[in-house]
Amino acid sequence: MSLSLSRRAARTSQSEIRLMSVECERVNGINLAQGVCDTPVPEVVREGARRAMERGINSYTRAEGLGPIRQAIAAKMKRFNGIECDPETEVIVNSGSTGSFYSACLALLNPGDEFILFEPYYGYHLNTLLAVEAVPVYVTLRAPDWKFSPEDLERVVTPRTRGIMINSPANPSGKVFTREELGWIAEFAQRHDLFVFTDEIYEYFVYEGRHISPATLPGMWDRTITISGYSKTFSITGWRVGYTVCHRKWAQAIAYFHDLIYVCAPAPLQMGVAEGIINLPESFYRGISAEYVQKRDLLCGALQEIGLTPSIPQGAYYVLADASSLPGETSKEKSMELLRSTGVASVAGSAFYHGKGGDDLLRFCFAKTDEELGEACARLKKLRQRSQLGAATLKA
Ligand code: PLP
Repeated sequence: MSLSLSRRAARTSQSEIRLMSVECERVNGINLAQGVCDTPVPEVVREGARRAMERGINSYTRAEGLGPIRQAIAAKMKRFNGIECDPETEVIVNSGSTGSFYSACLALLNPGDEFILFEPYYGYHLNTLLAVEAVPVYVTLRAPDWKFSPEDLERVVTPRTRGIMINSPANPSGKVFTREELGWIAEFAQRHDLFVFTDEIYEYFVYEGRHISPATLPGMWDRTITISGYSKTFSITGWRVGYTVCHRKWAQAIAYFHDLIYVCAPAPLQMGVAEGIINLPESFYRGISAEYVQKRDLLCGALQEIGLTPSIPQGAYYVLADASSLPGETSKEKSMELLRSTGVASVAGSAFYHGKGGDDLLRFCFAKTDEELGEACARLKKLRQRSQLGAATLKA
């Protein structure tokens, strides 16, 4: 038989994060590898979905999604993001922001187009670009505060460059892009006539700085594709409800491709999310940052204590820590060693870099219940006790 996988399939690889989760389950460890957010779903969201099912909202929806959620998103975009958009023609409900990004890539990128990613990057961004046969090019953010310069952008741009990705707050670095940095990207995108895709899934998880939507910068609305969703905000990663907001000249094709792959986001769950957007007060969103900054500080404190110096994240719910003190040649070996010795799963830094940049890094997720995070920190601290014990034994 001469059958084989497509060239596309051969180029992509299964997410290391999932592989680590499987290994963690096998050893009955605590999973700080995956962003699965096991905090409770707001009641108004759950009730909204339940009521919608009982009212018979269980069929396919229009390609763009149901009216109530599109209207709720448009109102929220104006209120929170400062973006005025038409709910009829400029808002599309998607199967998570993952569905949004994939559909937008299919609608707007051609095979061979170059697309700029900041690294450390989110693996789905990279692999989605590879799946549509775009060519990723990289601008490496400099640790520990993940800075870049306008010259870094100029160095990678070519006549084939078609777009650039912004993810703020970012996974995995926790970087919140400043207005100055977004201004550089906006000027660069206009001068080179590029699309800006912006993944704002962590827009409510900000601890330092302020969330700014790139589409609000002067001249940016008609070239910016804003992607977000409620997986994280409402702790509903399994519901698959996200959205795209963009100029109407792009929206129809994005909705078309979304329909082709996913048909629609689950109808009653769209209604549950709409209820949440309409009814939850501002204090709910402020509460997210207040709650998560405590989780961040707890985890970063433990990492600091055991000598895995963390880069303190300004947003999102991940932390990259310096793992150079752990045994192992590669970050994969280091994460396996940590899982073996403490029962805490992390992700190897190599998952976020195309070259060697991540070899001394591990990523930990703090979207966990306080109880689980506390237990993970206690287990991590044992590493220090063990290494002190080891050192004492050696000396003796
Ligand atoms: N974008 C980023 C940067 C993420 O970290 C994640 C999940 O970890 C997603 C998107 C996935 O979002 P969704 O559940 O809306 O597809």
